Amino acid sequence: MRLSYDEATEAFRAEFVDWVEHNLPPAEERTEPVLSSAHLPDWARAWQRRMFDAGWLVPGWPPEYGGRNATPVQQLVYFEEIARRQIPRGFNPQGLSIITPSILDFGTDEQKQRYALPTLRGEISFCLGMSEPDAGSDLAGLRTRAELQGDQFVVNGQKVWTSGAHHADYCFCFVRTNPDVPKHQGISVLIIDMSTPGISVRPLAMLTDPNEADFNEVFFTDVVVPAENLVGELNHGWSIAGGSLAHERGMLWISSATALERDIDQLIQTAIRPGADGRRLADDPVFSSGLARAYMEAQAMKFMGYRGFAKFARGMESPEHSILKLYGSELGRRLALETTEALWPLSLDLDAAPLTVHGDDPTPWPTKYLISFANTIAGGTSEIQHNIIAERILGLPRR
Ligand SMILES: Cc1cc2nc3c(=O)[nH]c(=O)nc-3n(C[C@H](O)[C@H](O)[C@H](O)COP(=O)(O)OP(=O)(O)OC[C@H]3O[C@@H](n4cnc5c(N)ncnc54)[C@H](O)[C@@H]3O)c2cc1C
Repeated sequence: MRLSYDEATEAFRAEFVDWVEHNLPPAEERTEPVLSSAHLPDWARAWQRRMFDAGWLVPGWPPEYGGRNATPVQQLVYFEEIARRQIPRGFNPQGLSIITPSILDFGTDEQKQRYALPTLRGEISFCLGMSEPDAGSDLAGLRTRAELQGDQFVVNGQKVWTSGAHHADYCFCFVRTNPDVPKHQGISVLIIDMSTPGISVRPLAMLTDPNEADFNEVFFTDVVVPAENLVGELNHGWSIAGGSLAHERGMLWISSATALERDIDQLIQTAIRPGADGRRLADDPVFSSGLARAYMEAQAMKFMGYRGFAKFARGMESPEHSILKLYGSELGRRLALETTEALWPLSLDLDAAPLTVHGDDPTPWPTKYLISFANTIAGGTSEIQHNIIAERILGLPRR
């Protein structure tokens, strides 16, 4: 079997790559760091705007929303190139990949103009207010209360793990608007201006660097939100939640499959070169067999991804995404752990030395290992993926 794309698809890929080569600002203009998932330095705003104007920001969408009506296969090769070349895109990932599509699906025309388009153009950024201290996997248990009083809502409660909330302009916030009905039926979505009085944001220290913060706790005390900021119908927020997360799942697997392939490629190059102490990683049989296993599993994952994609592109159900999410995140974690262990027994001591391998990616492997846990939690934990696979794919009874 030969897996390849047809000429027209390869021409589409070449057009994108050529455009990036002529338009991506050079590295020396991209030095101002991106501080969180809702922070856009000036160069990032300008680059996102350029992608939007050229129809390369979300190619599957129509030109007025930063796309070019690309087919599913064209979108796949686009994401392949984004991941393979590590092209910066989506500085506000929640805004771009979850919230904007939800506003386009459920919002009013005014909300599309006022919030979705400026987010796409990199003018404003959003955070996603779903999780709460007692509502993560069981999102429907959320308790942040919004009471409708005349033409405004009054919001009280707390969110947690809110990525980028300390930089975001707005929050796409899931709130309880009716506590007296079954929990899925009393949820609504509000767009909340983060500068409204009564909101306080407390960044949470990161495991990888206590001086950096992406997650936050967000507290709402009598926060007044205009009723026109309700997205979709009152008490119908649960269907928005399902739609929002489905947008996130779309083509995530290709990024994680490509990132794994890139890591494994770099590790192979590193393993065959003697290090500073003359030692070659390739001579370590435990590391070599672990790397061979990771290579096989990454290949299996990639081909399962293509299989799921082929079904999706034909409009069929593709339950593979839960398997890919579980497999990709757990494999990434295992690879990072085995590499960290092989590189240096003391490598979990982050202050001791930056244990990078040769290649473009400057992230030390111990840091990659610590970061790798995030993917096993965000977007549905590994345990929840196991439940989904057991119940929806294997048809086992619900527990
Ligand atoms: C990198 C990252 C970014 C995030 N960004 C955001 C954000 O921007 N906005 C936002 O709202 N949230 C965000 N989150 C939060 C994320 O959605 C939650 O962490 C996730 O849904 C899990 O919820 P929880 O942390 O409350 O864990 P819990 O749901 O309390 O789970 C705790 C443990 O119990 C297990 N468990 C729970 N229920 C079951 C079950 N039924 N069966 C078996 N095991 C179970 C879980 O797998 C987990 O191991 C982010 C998380 C990460 C890691």
